[in-house]
Amino acid sequence: MAVIGWIGLGHMGGPMSANLVKAGHTVRGFDLSAAALDAAEQNGIIATASIAEAVAGADAVFTMLPKGEHARSAYLGDAGILATADTTTLLVDSSTIDIDSATALHDAAAAGGFRFVDAPVSGGMSGAEQATLTFMIGGEPTVVAEASEYIRPMAGNIIPTGGPTTGQAAKICNNLMLFISLAACAEGSVLAERLGLDPQVFWDIASVSSGDSWALRTWYPVPGVVETAASNHDFAPTFTTDLANKDIGLAIAAAKSTGTPLEIGEHVQELFQRLIDQDQGGKDCSMIVKLVDGTAPS
Ligand code: NAD
Repeated sequence: MAVIGWIGLGHMGGPMSANLVKAGHTVRGFDLSAAALDAAEQNGIIATASIAEAVAGADAVFTMLPKGEHARSAYLGDAGILATADTTTLLVDSSTIDIDSATALHDAAAAGGFRFVDAPVSGGMSGAEQATLTFMIGGEPTVVAEASEYIRPMAGNIIPTGGPTTGQAAKICNNLMLFISLAACAEGSVLAERLGLDPQVFWDIASVSSGDSWALRTWYPVPGVVETAASNHDFAPTFTTDLANKDIGLAIAAAKSTGTPLEIGEHVQELFQRLIDQDQGGKDCSMIVKLVDGTAPS
């Protein structure tokens, strides 16, 4: 079994790394948050005090960090991964980040003699917990194949996407569609209630009809229907509005650079921004429903 370093033990990295422990690997974790480190220890991860300590002698290192700036700092900083890991260590970034940052990480890793892939994931916190995530992996084919072996205990699907950064390209486009679907769910679910439909009855119909989507089945924003959805837990975050806004912003930036009009995506970003302006950025992104039912704080 392997020794794996894990940087970023939040909503996703926590349960993902726990699945590597369950598969028999030794996992050494690092996070800036003491609470995240404590929670990881409960799942058998060995807590460390620095990136250097987490990556020392590791066969592979995973990163699961919020944004491009965090990933750049973790890899490229003076005491970061490239400065402290051995070049025999395989590096896997599963964060969702902008293409420019992903390119910078691939270039710096290659210049330092490392094997590196971008391997973002889809499936949410429930997919992380249940080890059913879809991984989309960009990089050299031999490195993608090697990374896939470490990824297997966390994944339902492992899909090579092509060369460096193509994993991020797939993830950015997927999440554009996800957040537009979530906004559609918010509108449909509130309207259904106001037309007198029982939420469960409407969900039962939509989930086997043409209104179906992953957002509907997993993040239904009206409470009392999908037990694990944040709407049933006072919108405690499984995916924060801040990160949803970041992801749709990545799509909009990519669209500008390719001359692609994203009129609906831009509108959904305005909705997330409105929640953030109302101090709700740390709540679950399915809070978007509150802009439809009129209960958003002002
Ligand atoms: P999160 O904020 O819960 O976790 C990120 C963790 O990284 C935090 O615990 C933070 O303390 C830590 N961190 C930040 N900078 C650090 C550094 N320099 N060194 C060590 N630790 C550091 O976020 P999350 O929801 O787990 O998301 C992580 C990534 O996965 C994001 O890019 C997100 O877009 C993506 N993602 C999230 C979901 C989801 O449903 N939450 C699904 C798929 C992909």
